[in-house]
Amino acid sequence: MKDQFRVGIGYDIHRLIEGRRLVLGGVEVKHEKGLVGHSDADVVLHAVTDALLGAAGLPDIGDLFPDDDPAYEGIDSRKLLQDAVKRVRECGFEICNVDAIVHAEAPKLTPHKKRIAESVALLLGLGSGAVSVKAKTNEGMGVLGQTDAIACTATASLFRSG
Ligand code: MG
Repeated sequence: MKDQFRVGIGYDIHRLIEGRRLVLGGVEVKHEKGLVGHSDADVVLHAVTDALLGAAGLPDIGDLFPDDDPAYEGIDSRKLLQDAVKRVRECGFEICNVDAIVHAEAPKLTPHKKRIAESVALLLGLGSGAVSVKAKTNEGMGVLGQTDAIACTATASLFRSG
């Protein structure tokens, strides 16, 4: 019984620089800066991927998709998430829900968070009510508050399907 329901947590942060696209949860958000990383640096999908992998007791995103492996250079993070979801399902789990907080001073994400949640839900094969995305500023403090980075914290819950 205690193994029927599982919870995982994921966190990620990437630097914001000029000349990059800003992609959050698979959605392109218009902004003068974008996130930099080995992949497309989609901080939301990376946090969600780690939450799902953690809930299933699988290795983390850095173990499965190393950022020094040329195979993942510039990769669309939707592919990493979908690979992780396949692994989670192969362990006999179905996804119950995902909840995420995007920590961003700029751009303001309130107008985009519903679209981001819907994109993540679609990628996970869930109804839109099963994915929640919240946007928080960092009250001007630190690298997040100085708009030098965007971070995401996510949780995921799973239930054993078989
Ligand atoms: Mg990352």
